[in-house]
Amino acid sequence: MFPRSRSVLWLLAVLAFPAHAETFTLAPLPYAYDALAPVIGADTMQIHHGRHHQAYVDNLNKAVAAEPGLANRSLEELIGNLATVPESQRNAVRNNAGGHWNHTFFWASMTAPSASGAPTPELMAAIERDFGSFDAFKTAFNTAGTSRFGSGWVWLIADADGRLKVISTPNQDNPLMDVAPERGTPLLGNDVWEHAYYLNYQNRRADYLVAWWNVVNWSTVSARFAALKP
Ligand code: MN
Repeated sequence: MFPRSRSVLWLLAVLAFPAHAETFTLAPLPYAYDALAPVIGADTMQIHHGRHHQAYVDNLNKAVAAEPGLANRSLEELIGNLATVPESQRNAVRNNAGGHWNHTFFWASMTAPSASGAPTPELMAAIERDFGSFDAFKTAFNTAGTSRFGSGWVWLIADADGRLKVISTPNQDNPLMDVAPERGTPLLGNDVWEHAYYLNYQNRRADYLVAWWNVVNWSTVSARFAALKP
Protein backbone atom coordinates (compact mmCIF):
# COMPACT_ATOMS: atom_id res chain seq x y z
CA MET A 1 0.00 0.00 0.00
CA PHE A 2 2.66 2.46 1.05
CA PRO A 3 4.78 2.29 -2.15
CA ARG A 4 1.63 2.56 -4.20
CA SER A 5 0.43 5.74 -2.50
CA ARG A 6 3.94 7.14 -2.78
CA SER A 7 3.88 6.57 -6.52
CA VAL A 8 0.52 8.34 -6.70
CA LEU A 9 2.06 11.31 -4.91
CA TRP A 10 5.00 11.23 -7.29
CA LEU A 11 2.63 11.19 -10.26
CA LEU A 12 0.72 14.17 -8.85
CA ALA A 13 3.97 16.06 -8.35
CA VAL A 14 5.01 15.40 -11.94
CA LEU A 15 1.67 16.62 -13.21
CA ALA A 16 1.81 19.75 -11.07
CA PHE A 17 5.43 20.57 -11.93
CA PRO A 18 6.18 19.43 -15.46
CA ALA A 19 9.85 19.07 -16.35
CA HIS A 20 9.54 21.61 -19.16
CA ALA A 21 7.29 24.58 -18.55
CA GLU A 22 5.53 25.92 -21.63
CA THR A 23 7.89 28.71 -22.50
CA PHE A 24 6.04 30.32 -25.37
CA THR A 25 2.29 30.67 -25.86
CA LEU A 26 0.00 31.80 -28.65
CA ALA A 27 -1.77 35.07 -27.86
CA PRO A 28 -5.28 35.59 -29.21
CA LEU A 29 -5.58 37.71 -32.34
CA PRO A 30 -5.94 41.40 -31.46
CA TYR A 31 -9.25 41.46 -33.43
CA ALA A 32 -11.98 39.06 -34.56
CA TYR A 33 -11.21 36.41 -37.17
CA ASP A 34 -13.49 38.18 -39.67
CA ALA A 35 -12.19 41.71 -38.93
CA LEU A 36 -9.98 41.86 -42.03
CA ALA A 37 -12.66 40.67 -44.49
CA PRO A 38 -13.02 40.94 -47.40
CA VAL A 39 -9.25 41.45 -47.83
CA ILE A 40 -8.47 38.33 -45.75
CA GLY A 41 -11.39 36.07 -44.87
CA ALA A 42 -12.20 34.54 -41.48
CA ASP A 43 -11.40 30.99 -42.64
CA THR A 44 -7.87 32.01 -43.68
CA MET A 45 -7.32 33.85 -40.39
CA GLN A 46 -8.58 30.91 -38.32
CA ILE A 47 -6.31 28.39 -40.04
CA HIS A 48 -3.35 30.78 -40.18
CA HIS A 49 -3.51 31.77 -36.51
CA GLY A 50 -5.00 28.68 -34.89
CA ARG A 51 -3.07 26.04 -36.83
CA HIS A 52 0.02 27.51 -38.55
CA HIS A 53 1.04 29.97 -35.83
CA GLN A 54 0.12 27.44 -33.10
CA ALA A 55 2.37 24.88 -34.79
CA TYR A 56 5.33 27.30 -34.74
CA VAL A 57 4.76 27.89 -31.02
CA ASP A 58 4.46 24.16 -30.25
CA ASN A 59 7.55 23.25 -32.27
CA LEU A 60 9.53 26.10 -30.72
CA ASN A 61 8.66 24.80 -27.24
CA LYS A 62 9.83 21.32 -28.27
CA ALA A 63 13.12 22.69 -29.61
CA VAL A 64 13.77 24.76 -26.49
CA ALA A 65 12.91 21.82 -24.21
CA ALA A 66 15.44 19.65 -26.07
CA GLU A 67 18.38 21.91 -25.10
CA PRO A 68 18.54 22.97 -21.43
CA GLY A 69 20.76 25.93 -22.32
CA LEU A 70 17.91 27.52 -24.27
CA ALA A 71 15.42 27.49 -21.40
CA ASN A 72 15.53 31.11 -20.31
CA ARG A 73 16.10 32.91 -23.60
CA SER A 74 13.56 35.38 -24.90
CA LEU A 75 12.27 35.15 -28.45
CA GLU A 76 14.43 38.11 -29.48
CA GLU A 77 17.51 36.57 -27.85
CA LEU A 78 16.91 33.32 -29.74
CA ILE A 79 16.47 34.83 -33.20
CA GLY A 80 19.25 37.37 -32.78
CA ASN A 81 21.79 34.75 -31.67
CA LEU A 82 21.10 31.64 -33.75
CA ALA A 83 24.85 31.05 -34.00
CA THR A 84 24.85 30.24 -30.27
CA VAL A 85 21.96 27.76 -30.51
CA PRO A 86 23.25 24.16 -30.41
CA GLU A 87 23.33 22.72 -33.89
CA SER A 88 20.85 19.95 -33.04
CA GLN A 89 18.08 22.55 -32.61
CA ARG A 90 19.37 25.46 -34.70
CA ASN A 91 17.16 24.93 -37.75
CA ALA A 92 14.13 24.18 -35.59
CA VAL A 93 14.68 27.39 -33.60
CA ARG A 94 15.36 29.41 -36.75
CA ASN A 95 12.11 28.23 -38.38
CA ASN A 96 9.83 28.19 -35.36
CA ALA A 97 11.12 31.12 -33.29
CA GLY A 98 11.13 33.02 -36.58
CA GLY A 99 7.60 31.85 -37.33
CA HIS A 100 6.39 32.85 -33.87
CA TRP A 101 8.01 36.29 -33.97
CA ASN A 102 6.95 37.00 -37.56
CA HIS A 103 3.30 36.07 -37.06
CA THR A 104 2.97 37.97 -33.79
CA PHE A 105 4.36 41.02 -35.60
CA PHE A 106 2.11 40.38 -38.62
CA TRP A 107 -1.16 40.22 -36.64
CA ALA A 108 -0.29 43.51 -34.94
CA SER A 109 0.50 45.10 -38.32
CA MET A 110 -3.10 44.75 -39.53
CA THR A 111 -6.51 46.13 -38.64
CA ALA A 112 -10.01 46.37 -40.06
CA PRO A 113 -10.04 48.05 -43.50
CA SER A 114 -12.15 50.89 -42.09
CA ALA A 115 -9.49 51.61 -39.41
CA SER A 116 -6.29 51.33 -41.45
CA GLY A 117 -5.53 55.08 -41.50
CA ALA A 118 -2.37 56.61 -42.94
CA PRO A 119 1.29 57.04 -41.95
CA THR A 120 2.07 59.94 -39.63
CA PRO A 121 3.65 62.98 -41.34
CA GLU A 122 7.03 61.98 -39.84
CA LEU A 123 6.86 58.45 -41.26
CA MET A 124 5.52 59.73 -44.59
CA ALA A 125 8.45 62.17 -44.83
CA ALA A 126 10.94 59.33 -44.26
CA ILE A 127 9.19 57.18 -46.89
CA GLU A 128 9.31 60.01 -49.42
CA ARG A 129 12.96 60.73 -48.56
CA ASP A 130 14.05 57.10 -49.07
CA PHE A 131 11.72 55.88 -51.84
CA GLY A 132 10.78 59.08 -53.68
CA SER A 133 7.04 58.74 -53.04
CA PHE A 134 4.51 56.65 -51.10
CA ASP A 135 3.44 54.94 -54.35
CA ALA A 136 7.06 54.12 -55.19
CA PHE A 137 7.45 52.56 -51.72
CA LYS A 138 4.34 50.42 -52.20
CA THR A 139 5.53 49.34 -55.65
CA ALA A 140 8.95 48.35 -54.23
CA PHE A 141 7.24 46.37 -51.45
CA ASN A 142 4.84 44.61 -53.84
CA THR A 143 7.68 43.80 -56.26
CA ALA A 144 9.79 42.31 -53.46
CA GLY A 145 6.77 40.25 -52.38
CA THR A 146 5.93 38.92 -55.82
CA SER A 147 9.55 38.10 -56.65
CA ARG A 148 10.22 36.14 -53.42
CA PHE A 149 10.51 32.61 -54.81
CA GLY A 150 8.61 30.04 -52.75
CA SER A 151 7.71 31.08 -49.20
CA GLY A 152 8.87 34.04 -47.20
CA TRP A 153 8.25 37.59 -46.07
CA VAL A 154 8.56 41.13 -47.38
CA TRP A 155 9.59 43.87 -44.94
CA LEU A 156 9.91 47.59 -44.50
CA ILE A 157 12.93 48.04 -42.22
CA ALA A 158 14.97 50.87 -40.77
CA ASP A 159 18.70 50.24 -40.98
CA ALA A 160 21.22 51.26 -38.31
CA ASP A 161 21.34 54.79 -39.77
CA GLY A 162 17.54 55.15 -39.77
CA ARG A 163 17.24 54.72 -43.55
CA LEU A 164 14.12 52.90 -44.70
CA LYS A 165 14.53 49.90 -46.99
CA VAL A 166 12.36 47.17 -48.47
CA ILE A 167 13.82 43.69 -48.18
CA SER A 168 12.58 40.12 -48.47
CA THR A 169 13.55 37.03 -46.46
CA PRO A 170 13.02 33.32 -47.21
CA ASN A 171 10.97 30.88 -45.11
CA GLN A 172 10.50 32.27 -41.56
CA ASP A 173 13.70 34.32 -41.51
CA ASN A 174 13.50 37.98 -40.54
CA PRO A 175 15.75 41.07 -40.39
CA LEU A 176 16.45 40.65 -36.67
CA MET A 177 18.25 37.34 -37.20
CA ASP A 178 22.03 37.15 -36.98
CA VAL A 179 21.87 34.99 -40.12
CA ALA A 180 20.05 37.66 -42.17
CA PRO A 181 22.21 39.12 -44.94
CA GLU A 182 20.56 42.52 -44.36
CA ARG A 183 19.60 43.43 -40.80
CA GLY A 184 17.42 46.19 -39.45
CA THR A 185 14.41 47.05 -37.34
CA PRO A 186 11.17 45.80 -38.91
CA LEU A 187 8.44 48.43 -39.24
CA LEU A 188 6.02 46.43 -41.39
CA GLY A 189 5.97 42.89 -42.73
CA ASN A 190 3.75 40.86 -45.01
CA ASP A 191 3.54 37.08 -45.11
CA VAL A 192 3.80 35.78 -48.69
CA TRP A 193 3.49 32.10 -47.82
CA GLU A 194 0.61 30.59 -49.80
CA HIS A 195 -1.25 29.80 -46.56
CA ALA A 196 -1.66 33.56 -46.01
CA TYR A 197 -3.71 34.13 -49.16
CA TYR A 198 -4.57 30.93 -51.01
CA LEU A 199 -8.22 30.57 -49.94
CA ASN A 200 -9.02 34.14 -51.05
CA TYR A 201 -6.63 34.65 -53.96
CA GLN A 202 -5.56 31.13 -55.06
CA ASN A 203 -2.22 31.58 -56.85
CA ARG A 204 -2.65 35.35 -57.38
CA ARG A 205 -0.06 36.59 -54.88
CA ALA A 206 0.21 39.94 -56.68
CA ASP A 207 -3.53 40.61 -56.14
CA TYR A 208 -3.18 39.76 -52.44
CA LEU A 209 -0.25 42.16 -52.08
CA VAL A 210 -2.23 45.00 -53.66
CA ALA A 211 -5.39 44.35 -51.57
CA TRP A 212 -3.36 43.95 -48.35
CA TRP A 213 -2.60 47.69 -48.15
CA ASN A 214 -6.26 48.16 -47.14
CA VAL A 215 -5.65 46.38 -43.82
CA VAL A 216 -2.26 47.85 -42.84
CA ASN A 217 -2.45 49.36 -39.35
CA TRP A 218 -0.61 52.61 -39.98
CA SER A 219 -0.90 53.80 -36.41
CA THR A 220 1.06 50.71 -35.27
CA VAL A 221 3.61 51.10 -38.06
CA SER A 222 4.00 54.81 -37.27
CA ALA A 223 4.49 54.02 -33.55
CA ARG A 224 7.26 51.55 -34.47
CA PHE A 225 8.90 54.27 -36.55
CA ALA A 226 8.58 56.81 -33.73
CA ALA A 227 10.21 54.34 -31.32
CA LEU A 228 13.40 54.08 -33.40
CA LYS A 229 16.45 55.36 -31.61
CA PRO A 230 17.58 58.68 -33.11
MN1 MN B 1 2.10 32.53 -42.16
